[in-house]
Amino acid sequence: MKYIKEYRDSGLAKNIIKAIKAESKKELALMEVCGTHTMSIFRHGIRSVLPSNISLLSGPGCPVCVTAQQDIDAFVEFARIENVIVTTFGDLMKVPGSGSSLTKEKARGADVKIVYSMFDALQIAKNNQDKEVVFCGVGFETTIPTIAAGILSAKNEEVKNFSVYSANKLTPPALAALMETKGVKIDGFILPGHVSVITGTNAYRATFEKYDIPSVIAGFEPIDILNAVLMLIRQNESNSPALENAYPRAVSDQGNIKAKTIMNQVFEICNTVWRGIGEIPLSGMSLKPEYNQFDAAIKFNMNMPNVPEPKGCACGDILMGLKTPEACALYKKACTPINPVGPCMVSSEGACAAYYRYN
Ligand code: SF4
Repeated sequence: MKYIKEYRDSGLAKNIIKAIKAESKKELALMEVCGTHTMSIFRHGIRSVLPSNISLLSGPGCPVCVTAQQDIDAFVEFARIENVIVTTFGDLMKVPGSGSSLTKEKARGADVKIVYSMFDALQIAKNNQDKEVVFCGVGFETTIPTIAAGILSAKNEEVKNFSVYSANKLTPPALAALMETKGVKIDGFILPGHVSVITGTNAYRATFEKYDIPSVIAGFEPIDILNAVLMLIRQNESNSPALENAYPRAVSDQGNIKAKTIMNQVFEICNTVWRGIGEIPLSGMSLKPEYNQFDAAIKFNMNMPNVPEPKGCACGDILMGLKTPEACALYKKACTPINPVGPCMVSSEGACAAYYRYN
């Protein structure tokens, strides 16, 4: 198939749904790891066409949702420092830290600017050389290479008033952590398409081989997702788990080697804390020592303590597939998109926001 409309073809969708219904016998819990998949599944009504023995769980693939409370607190602290401009993607603005949010700090007069790219933030630094500009680095393998490229540009152009606070995360270690978590029951992963464009299929091989978990990389159109569900059902029904790539038009075995090279030039793997999940070994990316001058945590000696999640918020359980948003006591009551308690209600890719909007 060549054109986008072919991936939305209703006749083709009906045939796949028919096959899903005919072949699916077992009770299966399939996790769409990525927040973009969650939104696409809701937008296209995919849950409603699946048989009742197939449930779809939302996973830890929304970068804003998995950002630890202490990192949100760090962003708020940067905003409170005189002569600092905080630059961020818009989704982070309303995420509540333990005492405030970037939106509240901006309302109090802090200089917080929404950017659409790391390079916008770099330009702001060049235009405001009497100020320090901090970029809130929150993302997965899709975003990290661009952040790395921005840091290389800052180094080459000797931009001295620019730094990045890295709360970046890697996807495969989170999947392994889920498989090790007591109570988590996942019969297959719908793996994130855009992360896989960078990582390649091979990045998941170690996790797949260790846990023998059915895994399919999928694109974001309805045919992509339905097809991935069918492939996971077939793997489960035949007891033959496999790591398959159902998104070959964008994902290769090796991934984007150039992007990975740039990423690994600037960043190194570290342990990091995920909201609700806790510290996952070797799942984060911090700046290498030779880029210390661009590391906002070092430049401002920023080291916020870990603090508990907001009382009653079940984001952690939701990100691990242990609960759905409707099982959170605050859902649609104390927590709404206008007045969010946790990040899963804030982010455009968050499971709670998706349930609120579409369910
Ligand atoms: Fe947290 Fe709100 Fe979602 Fe409950 S509904 S888990 S409080 S974000």
